[in-house]
Amino acid sequence: MEQDTIAAISTPLGEGAIAIVRLSGDEALEIANHVFSHKNLTDVTSHTIHYGTLVEPETADKVEEVMVSVMKAPKTFTREDIVEINCHGGMVSVNRVLQLVLRHGARLAEPGEFTKRAFLNGRIDLSQAEAVMDLIRSKTDRAMSLALKQMDGRLSQLIRDLRQQLIETVAHVEVNIDYPEYDDVEEMTNELLKQRAQYVKGEVQSLLRTAKQGKILREGIGTAIIGKPNVGKSSLMNILAHDDKAIVTEIPGTTRDVIEEYVNVRGVPLRLIDTAGIRETEDIVEKIGVERSRQALQDADLILLVLNGNEPLTEEDRALFEAARDLDVIVIVNKTDLEQQINMDDVNEVAQGAPVITTSLIEEQGIDELEQAIADTFFDGEVDQGDLTYVSNVRHIQLLEQAQDALNDALESLEMDMPLDLVQIDITRTWELLGEIIGEDVSDSLIDQLFSQFCLGK
Ligand code: GDP
Ligand code: ZN
Repeated sequence: MEQDTIAAISTPLGEGAIAIVRLSGDEALEIANHVFSHKNLTDVTSHTIHYGTLVEPETADKVEEVMVSVMKAPKTFTREDIVEINCHGGMVSVNRVLQLVLRHGARLAEPGEFTKRAFLNGRIDLSQAEAVMDLIRSKTDRAMSLALKQMDGRLSQLIRDLRQQLIETVAHVEVNIDYPEYDDVEEMTNELLKQRAQYVKGEVQSLLRTAKQGKILREGIGTAIIGKPNVGKSSLMNILAHDDKAIVTEIPGTTRDVIEEYVNVRGVPLRLIDTAGIRETEDIVEKIGVERSRQALQDADLILLVLNGNEPLTEEDRALFEAARDLDVIVIVNKTDLEQQINMDDVNEVAQGAPVITTSLIEEQGIDELEQAIADTFFDGEVDQGDLTYVSNVRHIQLLEQAQDALNDALESLEMDMPLDLVQIDITRTWELLGEIIGEDVSDSLIDQLFSQFCLGK
């Protein structure tokens, strides 16, 4: 298949200092060789690295000193010839190199086009391709290992197993429809179908359960610190965002890059909401009254509700509890170093089962307990990050939910002793839906839509 040669700046994960221009396609070697001065790149061994100088061929002007990796098809990420030009002069020089190869025959890659080619050439399946995208976006180590795991194909493998079970079941039903005279076979089939459908449904449900954690790991838990003025919100913010824990991340996807603050608490990424400028103007939080707190609540998954232990519970405090009622709340009774005026029975009553932690932020007491409570809220002690296959992709979640519905329909029909060919329709539908997760039977437009979300150069 003839493929034009694409090029883009592709900076590898975790190696921000080195900039790479990557080319992929039939002409990748010729184009690179055309602008490379020291040797003939078209007849070097595959998977080797070459030091040299890039020149403007017409004028022989030197453009850049580079290291060039040559990787010949098919053992490459895209299964096409790939050339990677490593530049060490930062963004200006890497841009010059990109312009050079674009002037000499390469086309600028569309976002995600490298990964799209890897998919179209059968190098990776769709859920692995989406994992590459998640990897680019992942914010913490936990999110990173989740994305890597998915790229490994663990989710794909699980989905394949489930589909295998379903296809065997369908085969069984077909035999049965072809030989309806064996009544006892029918009964067995009905029982077997029920078991299989129930098993697959159980697996689908446990994948869906991991989706919540997956989303959180990728995007961070939207966290709002609320409370009356002077209870210690800014102090808590500063402790959580202590410099060695804070990660400041640029979030792509909006017209201008938004800066958000991420705090990593025991592997749980908190995305602190409404914190813009807090470090510069120490007292901005103080000005956030109950009204502002209510607004922050709308974006939040987790509420840290701070009370002052040095004074009795007020109506204002109760109003905040009321506003946060349907959300995950952790109550912090602060200033335990001062005389306690708050009635803990009142606090526990209004907390309605939410964890209550006592702290003295000024003396850094109770911070461990608070961090533990945050971790517990999201991992329930049950998520073992070592060997869970997470589902963290919106499209996967929707497909799994639809598969769950189809399985419920199948089970209902079985319960009502409906004809088996009706059941088979639902089973086949489940099989198709699961197939879409790993990219079988997906339409071209869906593929285009998915890959256009990728960062350039991947
Ligand atoms: P905010 O208005 O809710 O943001 O509260 P701040 O964090 O600005 O704290 C208000 C005041 O309470 C400041 O003077 C803090 O030093 C003080 N403060 C915060 N936490 C504690 C604590 O645990 N004990 C005592 N004694 N004072 C505290
Ligand atoms: Zn990007």
